[in-house]
Amino acid sequence: MPRTDVNEFKQLINGSTRILALCGAGLSAASGLPTFRGAGGLWRNHEPTSLATPEAFAIDPGLVWLFYAWRRHMALKAKPNKAHYALAELAKKKEHFLCLSQNVDGLSPRASHPTRSLRLLHGNLFDLKCFNQCGYIEPNVLRDPLCPALAPAAEDYPPDQTMPLLDPTIPTPKIKLSDLPQCPNCKEEGKASPLRPGVVWFGENLPDGMLEEVDDWVEEGKIDVMLVIGTAAAVYPAAGYTQMAKARGAVVAVFNPDVSARAGLGGNDFFFQGDSAYFLPKVLEDIIGEVNVPE
Ligand SMILES: [Zn+2]
Repeated sequence: MPRTDVNEFKQLINGSTRILALCGAGLSAASGLPTFRGAGGLWRNHEPTSLATPEAFAIDPGLVWLFYAWRRHMALKAKPNKAHYALAELAKKKEHFLCLSQNVDGLSPRASHPTRSLRLLHGNLFDLKCFNQCGYIEPNVLRDPLCPALAPAAEDYPPDQTMPLLDPTIPTPKIKLSDLPQCPNCKEEGKASPLRPGVVWFGENLPDGMLEEVDDWVEEGKIDVMLVIGTAAAVYPAAGYTQMAKARGAVVAVFNPDVSARAGLGGNDFFFQGDSAYFLPKVLEDIIGEVNVPE
């Protein structure tokens, strides 16, 4: 059984140099962002996974953009929580800390997590990139709505009313390709191409060079601690990183409200059952001090 003692873990992490973190959806749970797993998971009458492919975008870019415009709007309404700020502070205090996040919600960047220590494995909802793959990227576009055609995804309704966009009986507005954001590079060359969300879709590779960078960091030497936050250590891709870190000597600490997330942990590892927004500031307090969330 893994250890659960906060003070024991504090001693370990206080004296640690090389720290790796892997974050999943649970990191943003305390920010109130809806996750698709568990809750029936449909968006209108679509499986969200069926909208997250280049093929779906090629067939109906307006529909796919409405889905992502809605997710951008939800993410912008949410605020980074204490766990995001705690990790951002850890990055400022520990030079050899690398944080991998599977979240596309932009909350770690908005908590001012230093870019040098943050790798967004699945991209960012707020980056725009060329669908034609000419290489054009516009990072961190927080404008909401992104363009007039996507305004129906950026409306707020009282809690007792369903947003028309989310009601599958109401047809979605028809959006012309030319009403979506366009790639300025391709336009200059006389080829029109829409911009798409800068997230990694099913069947796509992770952003260029990112895996190599992570591998290089891992290869540099012993890893003292690996934090697995809001995702299960035994499920891929977390499992792959956890194994790599263990092979480099890391003690693994899992932060998760779900007890099944401790699967695969040994007696020298740690398991903190609960919200990472509660546990992370607590176990890191000697290093980062008190975590303040700006109003
Ligand atoms: Zn382009």
